[in-house]
Amino acid sequence: ASGRLIAADEMLLAVRLQGPRDRLEALLNDYTGNAMPSAQRLFLMDELGKAFPTSNAERIALQFLEGDASGSSDAALGRTRIAGVWRLPASSGRITALYRTAAVQKATQDFLRESSTMRNISFIVSPPETVASPDAIPAGPELPGWTFSLELRDPALIENTVHARIASYFWIGYVMIACLAMTGVVVVQWLRREARLARLKTDLVAVVSHELRTPLSSIRVLVETLLDDAELDPGKTREYLRLIDGENLRLAKLIENFLTFSRLERRRQQFDFAPTLVATLVEKAVTAMGDRLSSPSCQLELEMIAGGATIVADEDALIRVLVNLLDNACKYSREPRRIRIGAREADGVITLSVQDNGIGVAPRDQRRIFRRFYQADQRLARETGGCGLGLSIVESLVRAHEGEVRVESKPGAGSTFTVRIPVNGPRTMGKAA
Ligand code: ADP
Repeated sequence: ASGRLIAADEMLLAVRLQGPRDRLEALLNDYTGNAMPSAQRLFLMDELGKAFPTSNAERIALQFLEGDASGSSDAALGRTRIAGVWRLPASSGRITALYRTAAVQKATQDFLRESSTMRNISFIVSPPETVASPDAIPAGPELPGWTFSLELRDPALIENTVHARIASYFWIGYVMIACLAMTGVVVVQWLRREARLARLKTDLVAVVSHELRTPLSSIRVLVETLLDDAELDPGKTREYLRLIDGENLRLAKLIENFLTFSRLERRRQQFDFAPTLVATLVEKAVTAMGDRLSSPSCQLELEMIAGGATIVADEDALIRVLVNLLDNACKYSREPRRIRIGAREADGVITLSVQDNGIGVAPRDQRRIFRRFYQADQRLARETGGCGLGLSIVESLVRAHEGEVRVESKPGAGSTFTVRIPVNGPRTMGKAA
């Protein structure tokens, strides 16, 4: 029944005589029973003149059996004498599988693709003696002589990756350069600030020691003269005490200015912004000036806003501003002095002004006099006992109120210093400046 014992052509004859070809076809397609030799099966297939799915495989098997059957039984994929056909014996050695090159490649590629997570890569499996890519690697002992290599599905991918990598290196470079530059700027600023502070310290020490010496030695001389007098004349004593009081006031003002200046420079000046009556500010500033504004040789005029106008400001700071301006008005004008203090309000801004009939400021000095230690006339400054800090302090304090200070002056015709400050105080009410 399996056809093993009947010669092929006889079997064919029998089948022909009997009629139905289906049985023979079924027999030729049946690979489950005892194996029919390839030659026999092929002969029958040819005779039937019909295409069988296994006829090609049978032909290769036949060729193999005729030429290679006794060949190596290595457990690895080996060459056969048939071009493009490879053999792989089962471990039992009883069965040998035959593969075409393309089948080996496809099976291997499928296996590699399924076991890989890299979706952008395709695997190239090359048989021995083909010119493989230079970075191909051996496929292993089971596929002797075969090689694997990788290929990007999207050739632009490497280029894009390289570009992205280069771009990221550039960015890192830029960021580092920017950081270095910023560090450099900060360091330079810090060094400049240190140098400026060191210079200021030296200037300040020189000015302080010089400026304090004058009123102190005046006080000493006046006191010594009084002490030397055996009998104190009341009139002379009162006059000397008044002079001592004046020098004392000057000393206090100098020291107050030094301290304010130092706090401003170190940004330690504390401001306490609160609603303040403008009239009170002016009154306290005039009181702080002592009898320098109330002497017969000084005519003081007040031109004040009607009503109790208030301003959000640091009271002490604005009193200091007014005292410094009034002090200059006294120092830089000759008798008979006429000093006018004005206070106006318009468009949410309070304008305080101090006008004198003094020596005035030359146009080229009108900006410079606000610089620290700047004095338009050194000789005169020595006489009046200034140290060039008053107006720079005025400007810093006014700026802390987000205001501005200006001077209008004509040499010989007097000066008007005007301070403009927003009524509602600074928008950001910082605590220190
Ligand atoms: P100082 O202690 O020298 O008065 P300031 O900073 O107050 O320092 O003033 C700087 C310079 O501005 C003064 O030395 C003076 O030359 C000039 N100055 C200031 N106020 C007046 C004024 N009212 N009239 C004329 N010159 C003035």
